[in-house]
Amino acid sequence: DDKNKNSRRVLLKLSGEAFGGGKIGIDTKVIRRIAKEIHEAVDQGIQVAVVVGGGNFFRGAELQQAGIERTRGDYMGMLGTVMNCLALQDFLEQEGQATRVQTAITMGQVAEPYIPLKAIRHLEKGRVVIFGAGAGMPYFSTDTVSIQRSLEIHCDEVLMGKNGVDGIYTADPRKEPTAQRFETLSYQRALVDNLAVMDAAALSMARENDQHIRVFGLEEAGNVTKALVGKPIGTLVSN
Ligand code: UDP
Repeated sequence: DDKNKNSRRVLLKLSGEAFGGGKIGIDTKVIRRIAKEIHEAVDQGIQVAVVVGGGNFFRGAELQQAGIERTRGDYMGMLGTVMNCLALQDFLEQEGQATRVQTAITMGQVAEPYIPLKAIRHLEKGRVVIFGAGAGMPYFSTDTVSIQRSLEIHCDEVLMGKNGVDGIYTADPRKEPTAQRFETLSYQRALVDNLAVMDAAALSMARENDQHIRVFGLEEAGNVTKALVGKPIGTLVSN
């Protein structure tokens, strides 16, 4: 029953950008591949929780620019994350991987409510737990939520899967060809030098609680499994 009980537990953050393949809506090819790679890691005994972003549908700050009240736009953004969760759930289940979706905004027909102790039990039973609807609160980001959930359910690492970049660099590698990738980086340097490819709220919560974060590139085949099982790819942010 508790096949993965004492194994490594990680939180995988997937941005909405990855789900959309750069467009609005979902790119099923990408999600299917990510689902396969997650399943492979669970097969190797890893406990995997996932926080899914929603930028491929809506971002509150962008909706605000277009004239929608900020908090309502944020709720639209959170609802978008849930569609991504259901898509990922579907492809995981197709792989034969048991899953549960838990949302921060209750919607009983499609998901369980967020219950941390229950999430831990699911993980111990080898189920993938997918967290949706962010924190359920406007003005938060799914990056920040991934640190919070990871802390609350005691994950060893947060694994931030990125599109278009495979770690943290000394400068933006898309603009600066001589930029170097860090293998390791302190929270402090990432914050002060404004290097991280995540928001400052997420990074400062990680620093205050010494939550290790590995930033890695999602696009290369096999990378999701590698990150989940603990291979040293990308950049590790720690003390
Ligand atoms: N959001 C929010 N509170 C949260 C998480 C998300 O208000 O706790 C909203 C916010 O508007 C955000 C959108 O949901 O822009 C989508 O999430 P995010 O931008 O973090 O997704 P990603 O960039 O990872 O695709």
